[in-house]
Amino acid sequence: MRCPFCFAEDTRVVDSRLADEGDAVRRRRECLACRERFTTFEHAELRLPQIIKTDGRREPFMEAKLRAGLQRALQKRPVEAAEIDAVIAYVRRSLMASGEREIASRQIGEWVMEQLRDLDKVAYVRFASVYHSFQDLNAFREEMERLEDRGVADLSTKP
Ligand SMILES: [Zn+2]
Repeated sequence: MRCPFCFAEDTRVVDSRLADEGDAVRRRRECLACRERFTTFEHAELRLPQIIKTDGRREPFMEAKLRAGLQRALQKRPVEAAEIDAVIAYVRRSLMASGEREIASRQIGEWVMEQLRDLDKVAYVRFASVYHSFQDLNAFREEMERLEDRGVADLSTKP
């Protein structure tokens, strides 16, 4: 592993531990040339399915995009960062477990909503409203009606 400071090729591992609940290995390395230390994360290489967007285009699964969407839905809600991580980990695991080469973005939305439903009802309604607005308004109305039937939706919590 090349040193990011001086680009020397000889670095040694000074510490190694599990990260991301065991899904990654975090290593502290030291450059033998300049003595700077840096951290690397090692993940098992698993090919995640491509995401089919609603307009039919394909793109790789982007964790940062999902995280941003979740953070918007969870703004000012009493939900810990670790719980957001858990939702993302769940989506990642579901993607891997699907064994598919391509998956509709709608399916990712469903997985997220499954998780948010248990985590935070307000975030769930917010996410559902944003998520469905990308599709069509009728689908969103139906979702709201389903929620109201179950006594979940509180319209005052709409974003
Ligand atoms: Zn160096």
